[in-house]
Amino acid sequence: MRAAADQDDQGPLALTGEGRRVSVFRLVLAFMLLVLVTFATVEGWRIWRDYRDAFINAENMVTNLVQATAQHAEDAIRQVDAITAALAERLEGDGFDHIDRPRLHALLAQQKSIIPQLHGLFVYGPDGRWIVTDKTATPAAANNADRDYFIYHRDHPSRAVRIGSVVRSRSTGNLIIPISRRLQHADGSFAGVLLGTIKVDWFVRYYGEFKIDERGALVLAKRDGTILVRRPFVERVVGRSLANSEIFRNYLPYTPQGLVEAVAVVDGTPRLYAYRALTSYPLVVEAGLSRESIVAPWRQDALKSLAVLLLLVLGFAVFGWVVLRQLRERIVMERALHQAHQTLKALALTDSLTGLGNRRRLDAVFDAELRRARRQGYPLVVVMLDLDYFKAYNDRYGHPAGDACLQRFAALLRQAMRRPADLAVRYGGEEFTLLLPDTDSQGAQALVRELQQALRGQMLEHAGSPLGRVSFSAGIAVADLSQQALTPQQLLGAADLALYEAKHQGRDRYEVMERVAG
Ligand code: GH3
Ligand code: MG
Ligand code: MG
Repeated sequence: MRAAADQDDQGPLALTGEGRRVSVFRLVLAFMLLVLVTFATVEGWRIWRDYRDAFINAENMVTNLVQATAQHAEDAIRQVDAITAALAERLEGDGFDHIDRPRLHALLAQQKSIIPQLHGLFVYGPDGRWIVTDKTATPAAANNADRDYFIYHRDHPSRAVRIGSVVRSRSTGNLIIPISRRLQHADGSFAGVLLGTIKVDWFVRYYGEFKIDERGALVLAKRDGTILVRRPFVERVVGRSLANSEIFRNYLPYTPQGLVEAVAVVDGTPRLYAYRALTSYPLVVEAGLSRESIVAPWRQDALKSLAVLLLLVLGFAVFGWVVLRQLRERIVMERALHQAHQTLKALALTDSLTGLGNRRRLDAVFDAELRRARRQGYPLVVVMLDLDYFKAYNDRYGHPAGDACLQRFAALLRQAMRRPADLAVRYGGEEFTLLLPDTDSQGAQALVRELQQALRGQMLEHAGSPLGRVSFSAGIAVADLSQQALTPQQLLGAADLALYEAKHQGRDRYEVMERVAG
């Protein structure tokens, strides 16, 4: 067991301090990481939610668009459907032999004027010649027997209205959608065709009014896929078929309306589409917003967030680096300070000549050792040693030789200290003190005799001594701690008294003070 003061000199305390600083550093690091991870999680969640919201908004928008365009197309065609149905009823009821052309023309012109989408109303005879129209002038040789609606109605008995593909008007040159129905005699034989035409432009202008970006698309097509109108409007697209598109192939056959993400057949743009088949007519409308227009604003926002996150990471990295460096510097400095402190402390407790402990060293442990001996009930001995006729030695051999002699004696003392708790110090001058815990009188005397032997064995010449060699005297004080506590001064005083006695008795000997009590 070492003395309590001894333990102060060792590492553990310093390491604990350093460990605390390291853990502070870890704490700072963990905190910064926590902030970063939290920020990243919150931002990541927000970015993901914004992405989802962008698509939900786009879905709502295309659904509304397709609803509006479907209604618009249905209304536009229903009006023409109704007029042609009424006209057919009248023509067939009146009979085709005595048509009052001026009156019919007036009626057609009046109907045309009140229905804005209407481009024209035409009545063709069974041979395709124009019988009457809403127009004032009729081209003389005009014959529509070659139009596909004419051929269809001639060959099909169905009375339902038919929606044809876009054609260019022979009367005005406009692009038109023909809405036609069959006229027949009372016996069911073919009597001609009644045609109402809708301006493609009517749809183009309506589609143009929606606030969607230039990559958005609106399409009105026949159920077979033939495009009638499209925004953005390009003439060459009219008449193209969407039959092979994703929607027409994989969705429309199964559900009349829905949402689809698909790449457009016409322009190759990836879009989110809503489509809807009209309930009353074989028509389909599609509304699509380009993926890019949905994602672009979101992406811009996400990039900003990422930039902020990056800045934060960078800031934290710099901050962490500075903190780490400062902590390191402090740790290094404090370690150096601690070492300097330890060195100073050791120096303060060491005798520079002999390397033994000094009187302060003895003072530092004496109390604790006394208390421990008393507590644990073991004996404790203090020995005071003093070289004999040492003044004469100095006088004769010189001070440096005296120092060397002291060093040799100190070495002997050091060797004699066998147990870790045994302590030898230079008390002052040529006086030394031994503190021997858990040692009794016999043990101490044996040790002193051993020392005497060892010193004799060194054969250190001392002409100034009656003995002719260097010798020492010793006073041994054995503490009696069974009754009450004892102060170091009391024990040292007793040892000193014993030493004085030894000197008095002729030197080169020791005296013992047994059972020194407080
Ligand atoms: P005694 O046998 O009665 O002890 O005689 P002494 O001459 O040893 O008596 P005293 O204790 O009076 O003298 C001690 C001498 O020890 C005085 C001094 O010259 C010498 N001394 C004390 N410290 C040192 C030291 O550090 N180096 C040297 N060389 N001599 C020392
Ligand atoms: Mg002395
Ligand atoms: Mg002396």
